Amino acid sequence: MSTATDSATRLEDTGHRLTATRRAVLDAIAHSPRPFTIEQLSARLPDIGRATVFRTVKLLSELELVCRLPLEDGGVRYQRAGSGEHHHHLICGGCGAVAEFSDPALDDAIERNAAAAGFALDAHSAELYGRCASCRG
Ligand SMILES: [Zn+2]
Ligand SMILES: [Zn+2]
Ligand SMILES: [Zn+2]
Repeated sequence: MSTATDSATRLEDTGHRLTATRRAVLDAIAHSPRPFTIEQLSARLPDIGRATVFRTVKLLSELELVCRLPLEDGGVRYQRAGSGEHHHHLICGGCGAVAEFSDPALDDAIERNAAAAGFALDAHSAELYGRCASCRG
């Protein structure tokens, strides 16, 4: 999932109309290299209301095209998903870098725990907080 075009294809494949507004939001996200807040993204899209930007980002995050990143300080950032597949995050508290990892065994364990609790699981996310290799070095 490397370009705005790929994301647009995914959006249409999942039955969502690619409106001009959604395309503009996708383009702005594609050109945002670092994790961003809704406010920062909204500032790049002066012609689109902030509520619309928020709703569009929420849809894209439900489609796993955009990652929602809860931070340790209680804030939330977003960034374009690297792989387009389900994954988890390593969030560096030093430089703010966010790395992705996938682990089917972890997903299995989460689903097993939900089932054991009689819990109907809709979704899950996992964020690991700490310091990246270059901040440690
Ligand atoms: Zn991610
Ligand atoms: Zn770091
Ligand atoms: Zn998972």
